[in-house]
Amino acid sequence: MNPSTTSITTTGTGLGAVTDGHTGWDCPTGASLIARVTGPGPGRLPAHHGCIYVCLDHRAQAEARIAAAGHTPDTDPAPHGHRWNPWPCGHITTYGTDGPQLAEVLTIPAEQTPADRIRNITARHLNATAGPWGTYDDGSGRIDVAAGMEHTGHGYRCRREIAQTIDGPTDNDPAHETWTEDQDLAQSARDAEFIAQARVDVPWLLEQLAAVTRQRDVLAEQLHAWEGRP
Ligand SMILES: [Zn+2]
Repeated sequence: MNPSTTSITTTGTGLGAVTDGHTGWDCPTGASLIARVTGPGPGRLPAHHGCIYVCLDHRAQAEARIAAAGHTPDTDPAPHGHRWNPWPCGHITTYGTDGPQLAEVLTIPAEQTPADRIRNITARHLNATAGPWGTYDDGSGRIDVAAGMEHTGHGYRCRREIAQTIDGPTDNDPAHETWTEDQDLAQSARDAEFIAQARVDVPWLLEQLAAVTRQRDVLAEQLHAWEGRP
């Protein structure tokens, strides 16, 4: 399929209709994730309207499109059977009578201005558990990330557990050499460090950005006034 075309095809009719399309982005990576399009259903359970098959790099874009279409994204790993023969990243499947319309909406890139994005990053930072976050390696092959972590010498105390890395991470990139357990653990430790430090790095970067933006605005105003002089 030419990824730049976003042809939409529907098979079946009514509630049983299945519509397939593509987001149009050009990605050689197979989809390791399924971003589900969920929304209010007829009963208590949310309805599943369709999904976008995505790689890790395109996850945010797929979720942004689902949100822009007025639905809630719900992303999970693709089923085990997809792992060695994955669907192409960007493949859209939708269900039911509204499927063709939804598939069409999902082919439209969700426009996000830099200001929107900064607002969203700020909201995510404010909504996350307060920092700082720390990391702890208990020797099990998994690294813990927790808020308000205090190492006790034989474990740790914390305000709230946040995450734990997985051991034996899936890496089906054929370009990668096979890693030893030690290499895997070292990479998990670096990933855990990135997650934990993001809790203080993101607000710090936002502050730097706000300061530089203020400076720029003041200078632009001064330049404007200077240029306007007779
Ligand atoms: Zn992708």
